[in-house]
Amino acid sequence: MPAAPPPDDPRADDDGAHDHEANDGRHNHGAPDGHPGHHDHDHGPDPAGIDAAVLHEVADGVHAWVQPDGTWWLNNAGLVIGDGAALIVDTCATEARTRRFLGAVAATTDADLVVAVNTHAHGDHTYGNGFLPAATTLVGHENMRRTLLDDPVIDGCPPVWDPVPDWGAVTRRVPDVTVTSGLTAHVGGRVVEVHHPGGTAHTDGDLVAWVPGVRVLFSGDLLFHGLTPLVFQGSVPGARAALDLIATFDPVTVVPGHGPVFGAADLPRVLAEHRRYYDLVLRTAEDAVARDVPPLEAARACDLGPFSEWDDAERLVLNLHRACADLSGRPMDVIAAFTDAIEWNGGPLTTHVCC
Ligand SMILES: [Zn+2]
Repeated sequence: MPAAPPPDDPRADDDGAHDHEANDGRHNHGAPDGHPGHHDHDHGPDPAGIDAAVLHEVADGVHAWVQPDGTWWLNNAGLVIGDGAALIVDTCATEARTRRFLGAVAATTDADLVVAVNTHAHGDHTYGNGFLPAATTLVGHENMRRTLLDDPVIDGCPPVWDPVPDWGAVTRRVPDVTVTSGLTAHVGGRVVEVHHPGGTAHTDGDLVAWVPGVRVLFSGDLLFHGLTPLVFQGSVPGARAALDLIATFDPVTVVPGHGPVFGAADLPRVLAEHRRYYDLVLRTAEDAVARDVPPLEAARACDLGPFSEWDDAERLVLNLHRACADLSGRPMDVIAAFTDAIEWNGGPLTTHVCC
């Protein structure tokens, strides 16, 4: 059981510097090659490119699929290997990235993938579900299943991001088994517990996967490590409350939904950063609602302080739209939220996912 960062600690790769401009113009999406999953265009030595994703063994038989740099659409996933049977945590946004993940899984174990867990409905964690073996039992929260069934973005990504991701030949595969509070999976002699945080947090259908034998927590997007948290389809107070649940596990190793894997020594800092960020969003939203200031204007006046260093800082606008809508008791306008985020950002949002 590792008490210190594992030897192939993915943190070693994270210098906090991400050159978004380096990718501009590298990917040509004007001419789809017609061969989903084939990689015949040059991705170059891109630190956030598809080849940068690696399967890290974070505990005996427990692996994290970490996709640098963790920004928009670049999630982490997981693998728990038992005796002849294994469990997967999440898939990836695109066919190419999911095939690469599952290829790394196949190179690591020949165990049957008997169970897969979706931590929530967002496409970066679910659009690749259709590439799991048909026999794999897919588990998700009942709200997550409904959200993925209704998700229009899997049918084609809107030009909110640059480049506009091409998902490849993804299909809408939803959970075979739904849960509302949790379940325990027994996979080749290993126990994996699946827990709902008890309320709306990152989304209304979040799950974490906890491997008690080695004290590894797959937090899904209840944690973004070193990146701006996103709660626009959840609840800011709920996401803040879910941090308390994470602390109760007392994990040795945490695989966040995005960003580098980290150990117990870093958990208090990571939780405190999330609390401070959520408090900033809530204070800003309360002030905006009290003074009838629109979310974009509130975002422009908000001093992010140290959080301005986090990638995907424009999520402030989305998070404020959520918080202001909830404080005002009205539904959130998702289109207006993204329009404002693009305005705040000075253009479409940067992603390193192209296909
Ligand atoms: Zn995510």
